Amino acid sequence: VSDTFLDGFRKVAMSDKRWAVGVDFGGTNLKVGLVNAAGRVRAAAVLPVGRPCGPAEFLDAVEAAAGALMRRARLPAGSLRGVGVGAPGPVDARRGIVRTLVNVAGWREVPLARRLERRLGCRARVENDANLVALGEWRYGAGRGSRQLVCLTLGTGVGGGLILEGRLQRGASGAAGEIGHVVVDPGGPRCGCGRRGCLEAHVGTAAILRLARRALRNGRGPLRRLAVQACGELSPALVSKAAAAGDAGARRVWEEIGRWLGLGLAGVANLLNPDRIVIGGGVAGGWRFFEPAMRRALAAHALPAAARSARVVRGELGNRAGIVGAAVLLWRENQKA
Ligand SMILES: [Zn+2]
Repeated sequence: VSDTFLDGFRKVAMSDKRWAVGVDFGGTNLKVGLVNAAGRVRAAAVLPVGRPCGPAEFLDAVEAAAGALMRRARLPAGSLRGVGVGAPGPVDARRGIVRTLVNVAGWREVPLARRLERRLGCRARVENDANLVALGEWRYGAGRGSRQLVCLTLGTGVGGGLILEGRLQRGASGAAGEIGHVVVDPGGPRCGCGRRGCLEAHVGTAAILRLARRALRNGRGPLRRLAVQACGELSPALVSKAAAAGDAGARRVWEEIGRWLGLGLAGVANLLNPDRIVIGGGVAGGWRFFEPAMRRALAAHALPAAARSARVVRGELGNRAGIVGAAVLLWRENQKA
């Protein structure tokens, strides 16, 4: 259990009355945090879970973590408004059901919200994880004030969330915003979804590592030195480090990522005419290296009116966007009530 993932951790006054537990289920770990209505995180933990982490283990872990965080923050049990959960897969948010999880076995049509409510004795809501990043950035981060927001999360998977006219768009069956699986190149590399040439197959972590391995074969610069130091264990962060040290191959990796990303954003801009596009997730750490190529490709492939009005910015909430967004699910209902 550690607090270190909270890069923007801020101390919150004891006088804040309303708290929600936000849960970001990453498949192999759980991030759990206490979040107040101002979007501040009071206490948080990252818990490793088994592979695969089934529903029973998930419920145990969330119950234990929520209790521990409430005690650590010295909050009385009555101050908890509810629990919001982000799940990596399609969700029936209205009925609180997780349909399936992309990389975790054992989850099929699980009524997670109902089971959490029974266990914790408070309200529970479930939503797709990329939608929660969008909600978090829209309410508290780089999407504040936007009326037509598209949010992309870059990582192993490439997720998307749409908040148009202040409403999260789920689509006809909860699959709206799946930008990562828009095909940008039908003959391209194989994607985790089984199809070829999805945006995710070009800009996800696997694509970055594939390009980095190719750069390594020809390179003699910092990328090679860093890769040797890391015993050959490549990562997007390592490619960023090599690019920062001036490695030409590593810079070309990020440029290619930027070109594909900009092409994907151009389709999004033409379809939805967003006023803002927020780019979040772990891979956004390479932002300063892919940003120029991304902007050039967006301008080249989108209609001028759509490209002009879309302000593309980096997410502000970092790796706490999911838990903060999960809490937004609870506040939104309070406002309507
Ligand atoms: Zn795909």
